[in-house]
Amino acid sequence: MSTLDATHDPALQSWVASANAADTDFPIQNLPFGRFRRPGQAWRIGVAIGDQVLDLELAAEHTKWPSDVQALLALLATGELNGFMARGAAARRTLRRALSQALAAGGPEDALAPCLVPQAEVELGVPCRIGDYTDFYVGIHHATAVGKLFRPDNPLLPNYKWVPIGYHGRASSIVASGTPIRRPRGQTQAAGQDAPEVGPTQRLDLELELGFFIGAGNALGTSIPLAEAEDHLFGVCLFNDWSARDIQAWEYQPLGPFLAKNFASTVSPWIVTMEALAPFRRPFTRPAGDPQPLPYLDDAGQRERGALDVQLEVRLQTAAMREAGMPPVAISNSNAAQAAYWTAAQLVAHHTVNGCNLQPGDLLGSGTLSGPERAQAGSLLELTAGGKEPFTLPNGERRAFLQDGDTLVLAGHCERPGARRIGFGLCAGTVVPA
Ligand code: CA
Repeated sequence: MSTLDATHDPALQSWVASANAADTDFPIQNLPFGRFRRPGQAWRIGVAIGDQVLDLELAAEHTKWPSDVQALLALLATGELNGFMARGAAARRTLRRALSQALAAGGPEDALAPCLVPQAEVELGVPCRIGDYTDFYVGIHHATAVGKLFRPDNPLLPNYKWVPIGYHGRASSIVASGTPIRRPRGQTQAAGQDAPEVGPTQRLDLELELGFFIGAGNALGTSIPLAEAEDHLFGVCLFNDWSARDIQAWEYQPLGPFLAKNFASTVSPWIVTMEALAPFRRPFTRPAGDPQPLPYLDDAGQRERGALDVQLEVRLQTAAMREAGMPPVAISNSNAAQAAYWTAAQLVAHHTVNGCNLQPGDLLGSGTLSGPERAQAGSLLELTAGGKEPFTLPNGERRAFLQDGDTLVLAGHCERPGARRIGFGLCAGTVVPA
């Protein structure tokens, strides 16, 4: 598991002035990876620093790096992140140390300043090739609240506290932040009707999730033990698993989510590495009286610091707010460590216990990360009690589910005394008509 080193020193400053702003998501202690392109040019791999992107292909050419670092930069100069992800945690730490030194005050500013490009001037894509995507259901408050809506007499199924629940999603419809979200059509069965109808969803929702990217994979037929699972995690992004609740309610039994989920899912553009998150790990605990995880999902490392302390926020801006110049407003807040019943490493160990092979760039969705209170809901389904209790926005508009023209934004950051605050950037999408 990643430990603290000089790259986490909260006093460390960068020669990139915007990286030293107190409220930046991307101080020198963060250094997340993403995929960007200048207008009309090919995709490249970069690292976010303040309001800039360090172009790693240019950086490889503009200054002298140690040979092991140069080899890693050459891998990234392909414009794909996956080859580097496959190299695992040791390679990631080597590059992080080198980039931290190069971007620190006193580093080779003259050589690297020409390798910066403002984030505002580039397009940010899906950060890597996502071969497979699995969505889990680790938010126990979400699972309980949603269970109550779908099955009032039996909200939390008996397997929930024993086995991390998940399903295989669809990677092809994972889109970059900013991509418009087309309202999906599908079958729904209205209450009291004898037959279903097909049409645009009337209950379009978000799901506030974290996305865990796999770094080094495992061979088919082998398992990743829990003690090694952290080394197979590359990093974390924000993830909105857009959901059509009316389609979901009609189709989900007996095999689970299908067309209610796979029309689009949005990822934030920057992958915050497990190293950057090292100061923000928390003990993983179970409430008294709950079953302890089975031995393959339990070890001292996870108990000590398996949880991720990430503050999450959902913001909404309607078309009318946008026209009036009003920024998105927060509609809920939660914390990943409080919301999650399973850790990312447990998901990796469980996913591979049967010999299933994970590959570099695979994405594991956490599931909706709601807190126990209504104001901590990670979905509108919970926030509005299944649509029955709409909320009112500052301009007087009311919402139960998302309307065409609504922009939904997820934000996340980590902070604690003694560490530099880091953030995830934004995960945004605007709903367009069916
Ligand atoms: Ca989900």
